[in-house]
Amino acid sequence: MSITSAQRRTALQIRIALLVLAIGLPLGYVTLQRFVPSVDRPSATVTAGQRLILPSITAPTDSNYAFVRTQPNSAEPVAFDPCRPIHYVVRPGGAPPGGMDLLHTAINNVSAATGLQFVDDGVTDEAPSELRPNYQPDHYGDRWAPVLISWSTPEEYGGLAGQVIGLTGSEPVTTDDGQLALVSGHVTLDAEQTNDLLTKTLLNGRSVVIATITHELGHLVGLAHVNDLNQLMYPTARPTTFTFGSGDLTGLAALGSGRCFDEL
Ligand SMILES: [Zn+2]
Repeated sequence: MSITSAQRRTALQIRIALLVLAIGLPLGYVTLQRFVPSVDRPSATVTAGQRLILPSITAPTDSNYAFVRTQPNSAEPVAFDPCRPIHYVVRPGGAPPGGMDLLHTAINNVSAATGLQFVDDGVTDEAPSELRPNYQPDHYGDRWAPVLISWSTPEEYGGLAGQVIGLTGSEPVTTDDGQLALVSGHVTLDAEQTNDLLTKTLLNGRSVVIATITHELGHLVGLAHVNDLNQLMYPTARPTTFTFGSGDLTGLAALGSGRCFDEL
């Protein structure tokens, strides 16, 4: 190898390193922004008069469930504050025919199993993002950003590539006493796959789509996958499992009866 080609190689490596640095910086910045409380939080709080009366959920006792996250010093799940409703917005582009009906059916499934209340805040033009901030005052004002539900494509949201029909993300915030709580999140559905499934009536396509959205909303409120085929939180959609199983219901009832946080 001549000195000249070695020098060329060194120069090339530096250019690649600079490129990585340039790409890496904005990502790191966004991540950092999300964990600065003074910038990251709305000032509004829920007053006692606005608190929800929690319904009583009767759930089976079945250990076939798992939580996405547990609290730092206990096995209690990280959950939404059950004393306030979960607001959500929908980006309607790409939705299948009757998409809102499908969505509302799935939301009712989760609400019935948890007691959590959901409030439809209408439509949005916000695009899904893996680094979605919980607080977006320019978009949603001085409050936690509502949950974003959207129909998307693998081109827009890379996680939908391949057989993945839906993806859900949420990032908890830390409360005054060091506990974690969910305040927002996103559910991103593959537009083409859901549209396609709805045409497959012999395969119960409509039921599979509702089950898929319900599964994703299960993640949103804090349920993780389990390996039991009888639970809707099994990682793969199945043509025979359309509703929550007894393990799912046990976990969901726990997720709907967590602590209320005045300071959020
Ligand atoms: Zn899943």
